[in-house]
Amino acid sequence: MQSPIKIPFNKPFIVGKELYYVAQSVLSGHIAGDGLFTRKCQEFMEKKFNANKILLTTSCTSALEMSAILCNVGVKDEVILPSFTFVSTANAFYMRGVKVIFVDIKQETLNIDEAMIEDVITEHTKAIVPVHYAGISCEMDKIVDLACRYNLYVIEDAAQGINAKYKGKFLGTIGDIGTYSFHETKNIICGEGGAIVINNEALIERAEIIREKGTNRSKFFRGEVDKYTWVDIGSSYLPSDLLAAFLYAQLENMEVIEEQRKDIFNYYYEALTPLAKKGVLRLPAIPSECKSNSHMFYIILDDEQTRDALMNYLKSNGILAVFHYLPLHLSPMGRSMGYKEGQLPVTEYISERLLRLPFYYNLSREELTKVSTCIELFFKGKKDNFPP
Ligand SMILES: *Cc1c(COP(=O)(O)O)cnc(C)c1O
Repeated sequence: MQSPIKIPFNKPFIVGKELYYVAQSVLSGHIAGDGLFTRKCQEFMEKKFNANKILLTTSCTSALEMSAILCNVGVKDEVILPSFTFVSTANAFYMRGVKVIFVDIKQETLNIDEAMIEDVITEHTKAIVPVHYAGISCEMDKIVDLACRYNLYVIEDAAQGINAKYKGKFLGTIGDIGTYSFHETKNIICGEGGAIVINNEALIERAEIIREKGTNRSKFFRGEVDKYTWVDIGSSYLPSDLLAAFLYAQLENMEVIEEQRKDIFNYYYEALTPLAKKGVLRLPAIPSECKSNSHMFYIILDDEQTRDALMNYLKSNGILAVFHYLPLHLSPMGRSMGYKEGQLPVTEYISERLLRLPFYYNLSREELTKVSTCIELFFKGKKDNFPP
């Protein structure tokens, strides 16, 4: 029998006034969307990230769905994105009838390979959707340059990239649109939640409408029209103010959270460097133009067998390490579009070998020591021919 998990992969946390603000939201008499705390969160982020317009959404998935609507994509259009990503990056566009064009990733950062994008641009291409994996930026200068030359939208999936930077700019504020996630597994959390960053001025008014079920209710609340009505397509993409209240306390503590995550990242990095030097695993790399937000810690093993054996060894020691993503181009949906094994070799290579270690705000020194010691023991046993 396997021992019950003692060090989970993720754990939700509270850092400040989360519950106090939730109570305040109730007492304010307004817990639907766009209340006091929604405004506070939006203004906080706009100021902090130097962003034009930020709107809270119910998830990063809904922010991506809004982005697809804002780009006016439909049948016959094509959108370029990595296969090594969460399903929503593709689904938000696929839902609108778009042909999804998957591009391979780079070994160093696991981000979309910018050198392979131009080759797949056609007269039908409408947008590029770079995903900033692990809070490390894609090569945005090259991507934005391509988008300008071919007149394409850039939508940054910055679900994992809040407060991280590329050449001094915050992720999510570089393309036409950016999207954040506040899912419980991300850096800043409210259970389920997200935000859309609208950098392209021309898209702001329509974004407000789409988010409010296709009505001009936002204008009505600002007193710009005397009644509100159905003016466009849309859905209910705005979260309850209760979630915004919880989120605001997390945003206020964003730097505290990030410092703690940086300590965790550095601990893993230092503890595992001897193994990396021996060549039994690979550690994440951060290019000099990127400022990371320490979103995750992953290691890359020699082969799938070793990865799975290590994962099981950790599990038998009460530690939950996980892997992702099963490449989207090899999912049942991807295969139905005609994608096959061998088409995106780096994506396929990485997805068989990557392992994510436990990573959450309250992860203690003792727990960190246990995880890294277990990994050392695993390789010691392997080398001395004593299977763990
Ligand atoms: C988490 C994540 C999403 C989805 O975020 P939700 O808020 O759960 O919808 C999308 N893209 C990437 C890259 C993610 O990591």
